[in-house]
Amino acid sequence: MSTSQISIHLPDGSVRQVSSGTTPLEVASSISPRLAAASVVARLTPLATTPAQSPRDGAAPEEPSESTMYAAEDASAPRLVDLSAPLIEDAKLELIRENDPDALKVVRHSAAHVLATAVLELFPETRLGHGPATESGFFYDFYRERPFTPEDLAAIEAKMAEVVARDEPFIHEFAPRDKALEAFEKDGDFMKTHFVTKFTAPGSEVSFYRNGTFVDFCRGPHVPSTGRIRAFKVMSISGAYWLGNEKNPQLQRIYGTAFFSKKDLDDYLARMEDAKRRDHRRLGKELELFTVSDEVGAGLPLWLPKGATIRRLLEEYILDLERRSGYEHVHTPDLAKVDLYKRSGHWAHYKDSMFPPMKLENEEMVLRPMNCPHHILIYESKMRSYRDLPVRLAELGTMYRYELSGALSGLSRVRCMTLNDAHIFCMPDQIKEEFSSVMKLVERAYRDLGITQYSYRLSLRDPANKEKYVDNDAMWELGERVLREAMDSLGLKYKEAKGEAAFYGPKLDIQLADVMGHEETYSTIQVDFHLPNQFGLEYTGADGNRHRPVMIHRGVISTMERMTSHLIELYAGAFPLWLAPVQIGLVPISEKHAAYAAKVEAALREAGLRIETDARNEKMNAKIRDFANQKVPYILVFGDKEEAANAVSVRTRGKGDQGSMPLDAFLAKAGELVASKSAQL
Ligand SMILES: [Zn+2]
Ligand SMILES: [Zn+2]
Repeated sequence: MSTSQISIHLPDGSVRQVSSGTTPLEVASSISPRLAAASVVARLTPLATTPAQSPRDGAAPEEPSESTMYAAEDASAPRLVDLSAPLIEDAKLELIRENDPDALKVVRHSAAHVLATAVLELFPETRLGHGPATESGFFYDFYRERPFTPEDLAAIEAKMAEVVARDEPFIHEFAPRDKALEAFEKDGDFMKTHFVTKFTAPGSEVSFYRNGTFVDFCRGPHVPSTGRIRAFKVMSISGAYWLGNEKNPQLQRIYGTAFFSKKDLDDYLARMEDAKRRDHRRLGKELELFTVSDEVGAGLPLWLPKGATIRRLLEEYILDLERRSGYEHVHTPDLAKVDLYKRSGHWAHYKDSMFPPMKLENEEMVLRPMNCPHHILIYESKMRSYRDLPVRLAELGTMYRYELSGALSGLSRVRCMTLNDAHIFCMPDQIKEEFSSVMKLVERAYRDLGITQYSYRLSLRDPANKEKYVDNDAMWELGERVLREAMDSLGLKYKEAKGEAAFYGPKLDIQLADVMGHEETYSTIQVDFHLPNQFGLEYTGADGNRHRPVMIHRGVISTMERMTSHLIELYAGAFPLWLAPVQIGLVPISEKHAAYAAKVEAALREAGLRIETDARNEKMNAKIRDFANQKVPYILVFGDKEEAANAVSVRTRGKGDQGSMPLDAFLAKAGELVASKSAQL
């Protein structure tokens, strides 16, 4: 066999000539043994350019599809390979160590193999599905007539530890497709038979990975050996039908997670606990904030009095802030003729997210998915001159979006939502200043709401998917440039995201992370040159001629639904005084203090405070406990002594009994905390 030389380009710019067949591990060892020991996997980019092929289908990251697991990759794209994979062509090579998210995915997928190894050793009758890495760990699908019990899961986790301790190398093997299929069929491995049939070509060699006696159909890559999976945990189990079809056998999906270190795993588990404690769906029920009724429908929450109080406070807060920032508020209907949305382009670009039209006698109406066209018509309702601009039209606009039922969740993913929406119509040379004002509004609102963890994302169109967007390259480039310049002049850092733009233009998104670090867009500012064109909007310039305004779409505190869900989780239900649905709980010690209770109640109500009196014939401590469970900020207790002194005994959330205080002093303190939107009590 003739050994040809190939060039391996390393990240530091150096190039090594090695003989074909050299492995990344050998390259690493030749640099330093420490690098070799620390490397998990390698990233390889072939230098010979071959045309791109086999685009991946767009599966959501949490739910890796079969094809992302098994389908052939684009041969010229960077790809991860085993440290033991022979290098056979000129390529860029990067050795990936344990701080790279890609390396973590490889560890997690390797852990999925270890899970399957453990399951087969304990329950050999089990048939295997597939086991990809996910955003937060991995899963493996199994078919077994008897469901796995919690004890089984504990035994599986213990067995996985044995497999890891055995430190079995992951060995990449190949077998002729016919032989592989024959073996799988003989063993009744119906799922493996399906995957091999679907994702490999007849006559080809099929790729397998072996550790010990366990062999799995897999294209890899994997960590060098099972011992590299240092921290893992079996998390949960759920049922799923094979190929999502209820006529098929029911599979058992075991979820697990894996990390580079025990510390990372422990941190993750602690965050999971915290997330459970803060879950707005659970707190929404416990604190009586909202409910969901089957008879109304999924994704259509009902706001209970306490939740509605929080929402009203948010609405009043933002309306007031907008009014003081030069916005004019309008009201527009929740529905419109389909033609309006055809003209705006929503019908062509956004129809999949809309509810189907309602046919009336001679027209078709749709529930609006966005408020923009209505506001455009208000702009159009009279002649505008350059002196009128900017026109800032704001509305708590209710919109309807057809989200898949599986995506719906509490208040955070709903089908009917009310957005703190506004549209600014301005001259092109006003864009930058308007954009900056909106940014300041966002920062002010976040500060008042106590939101400190957020980041900026510049959302651009996906150049590979242009048909999803309005076709006007010049407009897109201009929009992007304006947003970049505005952000740079404000000195704000942002990351860019392709494929996240609105169909009509680029936007700046403000991303909030939840306890688990998942980011969602809450606030957004979009520069739009398209809709003003679409509707032929005009203003009379200083020159007396007609000009076209630019439109800025913006939402400052998101939808009332989503912001409320975020605040519930941010505060774990313990709202600051100004936002708490019940601010003060009153506990008269006995029935004979009813008259004084009425007096205290009247004084607090007069000061605009939200109170609840517990007049039940219950023990004082039980009443205090109930208010505390509802996370009420202040509990005021009073009996003979307090009545005589015109005072109250104050219990502060998180601080306990603060002793007696004159009623007037308490009123002054509470008033001050509400007015300043203080997070402290
Ligand atoms: Zn695999
Ligand atoms: Zn809009």
